[in-house]
Amino acid sequence: MTVSVLGAGPAGSTAALYLAQAGIDVEIIDKVSFPREKSCAGGLFNPLLYENRFPYISEIDSKNIFRAQFSCGRHSMVFTSRKPLMKTLLRKDLDWFLLQKAVQAGAQFFTGKKPEGEILIDATGVKSALRYRRAGICMEYDFKTEQEIDTAHVHFNFGGIRGYAWMFPKKGYVNTGVGAYLPQRDIRAVYRQYLEYLAKNNIFNASTIKYRSKIIPFASVHPVYSAHTILAGDAAGFVNTSTGEGIFFAMLSGNLAAQTLIEGRDFSWYQKRCGQEFGRYLKPTRFIQNERLLRAVLERAIASCRSDDRFKKMITENFFRLDRHILAFRFLKNMVL
Ligand SMILES: Cc1cc2nc3c(=O)[nH]c(=O)nc-3n(C[C@H](O)[C@H](O)[C@H](O)COP(=O)(O)OP(=O)(O)OC[C@H]3O[C@@H](n4cnc5c(N)ncnc54)[C@H](O)[C@@H]3O)c2cc1C
Repeated sequence: MTVSVLGAGPAGSTAALYLAQAGIDVEIIDKVSFPREKSCAGGLFNPLLYENRFPYISEIDSKNIFRAQFSCGRHSMVFTSRKPLMKTLLRKDLDWFLLQKAVQAGAQFFTGKKPEGEILIDATGVKSALRYRRAGICMEYDFKTEQEIDTAHVHFNFGGIRGYAWMFPKKGYVNTGVGAYLPQRDIRAVYRQYLEYLAKNNIFNASTIKYRSKIIPFASVHPVYSAHTILAGDAAGFVNTSTGEGIFFAMLSGNLAAQTLIEGRDFSWYQKRCGQEFGRYLKPTRFIQNERLLRAVLERAIASCRSDDRFKKMITENFFRLDRHILAFRFLKNMVL
């Protein structure tokens, strides 16, 4: 069997790595040469989950974040933890590392070549927003800085958007961004407003306005496989609807796509396994898209954290865990309704 993997992001490189390790003849093709930039905040929200599944991820230069400030409206709250709340890195570094790993394992990398394998893994990232049940839009930038910043900031509903603005410190950089569900009017104005807010509050001074932007896909309206093709990562819409996280699901689906081929499984097995492994994290939590309710929930949660240390500890332990934060959100919703 020969396999072509189209797209060398985390989904494609992970698939190519496991296929090559199993001795399968695999080529990985991207339309651009590497290393390359990719619009992404570079936040790995649950480092332990990554390290358990993909231990080699800890070899990449990254920063562990132990402190985060959550804000909504005029309310805000700082969370600290002894375990890292998240890991931040440059996407250029992550993607280059994963691709090199696949090549070292025996995958052949090409730029702009026609795929020739009998089977195709389509890991070409987000396509048209119309392809997905729901989509969001994100705008972000990695600003180089010498400032030592340790606290990540997440500002829900900033500027009235159905989403959040963020500031993630990285090693030698700061990533600022805004993400919201589509349709969203003039996200650029909200992004500009957020940079002004960060500067005014002495959190981070970007000095110029720079951004990259891209669509975020949530669940494909098409099946994620056909006779000779498997879709992985963003191409399949594998992104968490409430946080916009997609790197973990890209790697996991790439891994499962490879496993499907290595074990000679029917492609429907792939779709089923994706559902079993991470389907519950992708399901839209409906109230999160209800702006008024979300705001009420978050404001109430932040207020409760200020007055109740045990409650704050429970939220800190669960909210930042990919496998638990939906439960934490539900719990908060029940407090308000
Ligand atoms: C602004 C923004 C911020 C984000 N922040 C986070 C975050 O902090 N944490 C997180 O977990 N997720 C985040 N995400 C989501 C995350 O970036 C994606 O889910 C992830 O990149 C998906 O990986 P992938 O391999 O499926 O696709 P991609 O990383 O998009 O890779 C696809 C590759 O395919 C190539 N390609 C495209 N078309 C072709 C073609 N026709 N032929 C050959 N190659 C092609 C592209 O050049 C690219 O290299 C963010 C997304 C955005 C837009």
